[in-house]
Amino acid sequence: MSQDTSTTVTRFAPSPSGYLHLGHAYSALYAEKAARESGGRFLLRIEDIDRGRCRPEFETAIYEDLAWLGLSWEEPVRRQSDHMDEYRVTASALEARGLLYPCFCTRKEILAEVEAAGHAPHGPDGPLYPGTCRKLSADERLARKTAGDAFALRLDVNRALAETGPLSWTEISEGEIAADPALFGDVVLARKDVPTSYHLSVTMDDALQGVTLVTRGVDLKPATQLHRLLQALLGLPTPRYDHHGLLTDELGRRYAKRDKAATLRALREAGRTPEEVRALAHDGAPT
Ligand code: GLU
Repeated sequence: MSQDTSTTVTRFAPSPSGYLHLGHAYSALYAEKAARESGGRFLLRIEDIDRGRCRPEFETAIYEDLAWLGLSWEEPVRRQSDHMDEYRVTASALEARGLLYPCFCTRKEILAEVEAAGHAPHGPDGPLYPGTCRKLSADERLARKTAGDAFALRLDVNRALAETGPLSWTEISEGEIAADPALFGDVVLARKDVPTSYHLSVTMDDALQGVTLVTRGVDLKPATQLHRLLQALLGLPTPRYDHHGLLTDELGRRYAKRDKAATLRALREAGRTPEEVRALAHDGAPT
């Protein structure tokens, strides 16, 4: 079911794990324009579930840099780290339905198993999980949990798909696309260190914030396969999607955190005006 699209609600959802660069500026301007042109609303969300990589000074810089660029957004801004309990409750409910299972494997153990198998299938994020902990009995799970062994919660994707049946979403430039969530295998939805993951938080938050049009880089398009499944499992509405091409530099490389000279901060310190930076973000724009 697609959401009511009478008011377009878009969002820009950066992670405060570094300074925003031109690629982020392009993405933020893209989302804001999509909302503005249809008389809609533009939201900002701080995706800071990764406590090891995110820092408060980068969050402050996001507000400063986007305001300098001339963007404004609705307050309050949703910060994911403030909502860990909501994610935990949702993940536990999915586990109680038998759709998630605890996985005690370490990264090393998974790699060893994948290597031993020789020809492990790969998904968008690397080799698929071989399913080791899916086979544990209820007693074994309980015993390991009781012993205090750290665990993540993984999606039993086949069980989930058996519940939802075939799914699709609307991509603005292509129309209806069939979703293939099995591409990711039994992906982690709640990590060992935090009770959520990018996939779970982003899906819940887009729905909770009433986002009707998700605009983001095409590098995240594969993730939509899975987000569509989570929406179906959680009874959430499905926004429309517009995955845009990635801004590249004069050598055709996409911007990354390592490109210090392309951060909005560095450009501002080098004397560039917001208008010039907006033009830069636009000029390298993919067609
Ligand atoms: N937080 C993600 C990033 O910084 C973007 C998430 C999204 O737009 O869905 O890459």
